[in-house]
Amino acid sequence: MPWYPDNDKTMELKGHLKVKTGANTPVRRVVIHSVGSAAPENPNQSGACWSAWVVEQATKKVSAHFCVERDGRITQFADTNDVTYGTGWCTSGSIHIECAGNHPLPLTREQMDYATQLIGWLAHVHPDIRLEVEGTGDSDPGDPTKACITCHRFIQQAAKREIKAGRLNAMTITDKSCPGTGIIAQLPEIASRALRQKALRAMGLRAQDDPERQR
Ligand SMILES: [Zn+2]
Repeated sequence: MPWYPDNDKTMELKGHLKVKTGANTPVRRVVIHSVGSAAPENPNQSGACWSAWVVEQATKKVSAHFCVERDGRITQFADTNDVTYGTGWCTSGSIHIECAGNHPLPLTREQMDYATQLIGWLAHVHPDIRLEVEGTGDSDPGDPTKACITCHRFIQQAAKREIKAGRLNAMTITDKSCPGTGIIAQLPEIASRALRQKALRAMGLRAQDDPERQR
């Protein structure tokens, strides 16, 4: 029952359009999203996610496991062993993390600190996650079927490539800016900081012992 011990709030999603209970194992990848908020500095974007998914898009398979607010507070929506519907392709075996904000804003320092602490914990409780980024950009979105850190945009781009090559059944693929150029440029930093967080945890040290946090 992986619920993040340091989450600030839980807003549990229920029902087959929002979670597929117990079907997410083995968890192998982390998928970074952005909320795409019309008010990107709004301090309660987890609440906006909840109402988008549960009220406005109540009949759609759309959800995520976490939202990291601009000030680093973390809301958890689903057990990490449950599938959430953050993408069409590669939605299962993934942890979907919504980052408050909108394209092209990067993560704030606080979001980076707390998101990477979260991802370090995820890799600790789900050891099949590999804290390396797959893909470098639109021309090279990588292979998101691998254990990795990736993002929504790369998954869409890779799906189009795979369909064109006849390796994936045809389906409608919408281009997504999510999580936006600012966060995509931060993916290598997210991976390296998360890796250090995992190592600190394994050594029994605190998140704050990352030199990046001593500033
Ligand atoms: Zn997304």
